[in-house]
Amino acid sequence: MTFAIIVHGGAGGWNRSAARKQEAIAACAQAAEAGRAILQQGGSAVDAVEAAVNILEDCPVLDAGRGSYPNAEGNVEMDALIMDGQDLTMGAIAAIQRVRHPISLARRVMLESGHNFLVGAGADAFADSIGFERCSVEELLVDDLHIDEMTVAAGGVRMEAIGDTVGAVAIDIHGNVAAATSTGGTANKRAGRVGDSPLVGSGAYADNWTAAVSATGYGEALMRVVISKRVCDFVGTGLSARAACESAIRVLEERTGGVGGLIAVDARGQVGWAYNTLAMPYAYAVNNDPVVSDS
Ligand code: ASP
Repeated sequence: MTFAIIVHGGAGGWNRSAARKQEAIAACAQAAEAGRAILQQGGSAVDAVEAAVNILEDCPVLDAGRGSYPNAEGNVEMDALIMDGQDLTMGAIAAIQRVRHPISLARRVMLESGHNFLVGAGADAFADSIGFERCSVEELLVDDLHIDEMTVAAGGVRMEAIGDTVGAVAIDIHGNVAAATSTGGTANKRAGRVGDSPLVGSGAYADNWTAAVSATGYGEALMRVVISKRVCDFVGTGLSARAACESAIRVLEERTGGVGGLIAVDARGQVGWAYNTLAMPYAYAVNNDPVVSDS
């Protein structure tokens, strides 16, 4: 049985420094390798995507966990979503502060909260009630804010400082798929702003019947076309993972003028990706083949 994982480090401008982009690509390769190691041993797709995203959350040049962009008030508010395609269970967290690994907290929401989605003060209280490890804001902020001031006038939409969000999707040897997305959100966002990333069907979706998908880009546009579920629906009509990602990006462009990127793995184990930004670091591993990484 095929197993596969593909990860991304955010669709955006990536035009500030070649070294930073290389660091992001290397982190993606390391994350794909770590996820693959779990799949190789018969581990679950959910375990693989969580482990991969944990590595990306630790990478300081990526906008998730450590390295998250501060909001307009200088706080870090992070969003994350994880979904298991076997039974469509999901866990999401929004505007969470002072955790290094929001995706792991989202998974605990999925497994232990009795709910799907926790936000703000209630999310904080849940984290504390399960003894989830907390950190200081200073541990999340990095000196070089590495903000790509990407201004794209498309469809009348002005987009700045997107990119560096992280995500992973995988299929395990049992044919189960899973998806995970984690972000600090857009730079300088208004306090309380929540993007597409934690919204089911927008920031990610996973369904064994079709595919697992993670999205990145300008959240205000991505959520309006429910982009990750749309990729799954395209796969359901017979498109490959890659063609489905490309079609969904075209829908995003034509219906909203927005920019973004997608990764997907379909139920046959084929990986795909697409983006309409300048770059999107990604890496994938299929069975025991060498990891492929690029942007
Ligand atoms: N989609 C994320 C958001 O809007 C940002 C990103 O992907 O870089 O919060």
